[in-house]
Amino acid sequence: MEYNFAKIEPRWQKYWEENKTFKTPDDFSKPKYYILDMFPYPSGAGLHVGHPEGYTATDIMSRYKRMKGFNVLHPMGYDAFGLPAEQYAMQTGTHPAITTNKNCDNFRRQIKAIGLSYDWDREINTTDPHYFKWTQWIFKQLYNTWFDKEQQKGRPISELPIPDEIKKEGDEAVKNYISEKRLAYYDNAQVWWCDSCKTVCANEEVLTDGSHEKCGHQVVRKNLKQWLLRIPHYAERLLQGLDGLDWPAGVIDMQKNWIGKSTGAEIDFQVEGLNKNLRVYTTRPDTLFGATYMVIAPEHELAEEITIQEKKAEVEKYIKAAALKSDLDRTDLAKEKTGVFTGRYAINPVNNQPIPIWIADYVLMGYGTGAIMAVPAHDTRDFEFAKEFDIPIICILDPKDVEGREEILAGDKCWTEDGEYINSASEETRLNINGLNKEAGIKKTIEWLEERGLGKATVNFKMRDWLFSRQRYWGEPFPVIHWEDGEVSLLDDEELPLLLPELEKYSPGDSGESPLANAKEWLHVTDKNGRKGRRETNTMPQWAGSCWYYLRYIDPLNDERIFDPEKEKYWMPVDLYIGGAEHAVLHLLYSRFWHKVLFDLGIVSTDEPFQKLYNQGMILAFAYETATGAKVSSDLVEERDGKYFHTETGEELKQIVA
Ligand SMILES: [Zn+2]
Repeated sequence: MEYNFAKIEPRWQKYWEENKTFKTPDDFSKPKYYILDMFPYPSGAGLHVGHPEGYTATDIMSRYKRMKGFNVLHPMGYDAFGLPAEQYAMQTGTHPAITTNKNCDNFRRQIKAIGLSYDWDREINTTDPHYFKWTQWIFKQLYNTWFDKEQQKGRPISELPIPDEIKKEGDEAVKNYISEKRLAYYDNAQVWWCDSCKTVCANEEVLTDGSHEKCGHQVVRKNLKQWLLRIPHYAERLLQGLDGLDWPAGVIDMQKNWIGKSTGAEIDFQVEGLNKNLRVYTTRPDTLFGATYMVIAPEHELAEEITIQEKKAEVEKYIKAAALKSDLDRTDLAKEKTGVFTGRYAINPVNNQPIPIWIADYVLMGYGTGAIMAVPAHDTRDFEFAKEFDIPIICILDPKDVEGREEILAGDKCWTEDGEYINSASEETRLNINGLNKEAGIKKTIEWLEERGLGKATVNFKMRDWLFSRQRYWGEPFPVIHWEDGEVSLLDDEELPLLLPELEKYSPGDSGESPLANAKEWLHVTDKNGRKGRRETNTMPQWAGSCWYYLRYIDPLNDERIFDPEKEKYWMPVDLYIGGAEHAVLHLLYSRFWHKVLFDLGIVSTDEPFQKLYNQGMILAFAYETATGAKVSSDLVEERDGKYFHTETGEELKQIVA
């Protein structure tokens, strides 16, 4: 018997629709199962084949669990803010909401045609004011939270203890102290700027080759007033939380790497002739005896003060040149090492030897302290630098039975593996680690430093503050007003949502400001005392809406609260989450961070949002292209003797995996 798709499928889809067959009741008496897809960005092209791949898997699981007697929450929605609709608006003047809604309608139609069993009454859309009202509300919670290091917990800013010495300095100092503790803050930040997208990019959006993940253009440095989130305060919690999760090992590794925890020591080097210390962070304090020079970043706050008079002109020139380079250019191992001597020396604390202080752009301000101690005998980069500038090289790790040992001991060759300490003792300072193994050497050196107040054991994280604003129209507006007297205030809950203004033109405002700067009536506000203010013109990045959408499915129509806490307790955590591995350090890290803040504030009942994560694979297919890279439709391809030819032009084609 023939199965007539065109007749049978629409009939049942109509039945499901009319009878709300897949509607999920909040029946707390049943065991629950929450199964979530990574919701799609509704592009103009409609679904691509990767979407139904994952959705089919979750649909099978949903139907299975329903048959097993579970109350299954299986919702769908749209992550709908984003650049394409805005670019289309710039070209045509069509409001991005119109484009977005049209695309959502198409996605919904396509998904329904596949017959997937979603509860459509719970559909959400991140661009819907009823939705982003709560995204703005969460931003307010972040702004009004500080992280208590001792308790390892976010707490309301009203509970922040203010030290007496700060209070003595007056209101301004107290205000500054508080804003230094908020999880969301507004500050001048050196940011990555994509000149093609005319927007800033978060670190996570810049690929290792220095290009913007969205468009492929090289990014550059720029200084801008921006909103940032202090995600590193949660670094330890984000790390520990991974232990209890049933996630693919690869994703867990990527998150661990991104958080980048290391243990080492902070060490103070006294600067000769100045009453100042240079602080470095190192994971290898045990190699101090091999430290023969120091390097500070060109942006280091002491760079000018340290430089002696005769070197000033040379150093200034170097600093100017460094400012024009990208971080990637500066740290590329293959690039020629550059640097300039400041003319001044620091004292190596373990042997009281003076060692020269250099400025070099391979040291970045954003990592550690912006200053390093260099151990050229055992670090390739330091070795090359020392060779280039004729700086002494002292071997302190004996490689023993290795070929080329004599060269290594003489400092003519770099040795980056472990070895037994040699040349690592000083009668003057009474530190001696010769003969110890690495672990014991690190321990003894740190103890020695701590006893003398020269340094201390420190944990360091690679993770940086999350750049949380974009110069775009089509995003969530910040519920923020900047007043003429410098005060920053947030809108009251009753004033949310703050809607986007209607615009004639969607082109950027002056000097790269967002298009919102063109909406003069929306932009300027006056309070009841006549004080003038200006609304924030940046909007939130696309990650904002997807950071918490799984919580809104629980109670999508609630206008009074973000959700009913009883329902949240019943449905959370998500039992199974399926989506692409490309979100490993972006969406999946950001949403864990927000979730933990909401947990600390008592808004959600679980510490982690997604208990089990599963990465769908990628669907691969063969495609064909000409020698110049032009794609050729597969019905114009014929195979002869294992080679591929264009049926019309006869040209030989390359087979590629797309
Ligand atoms: Zn770009």
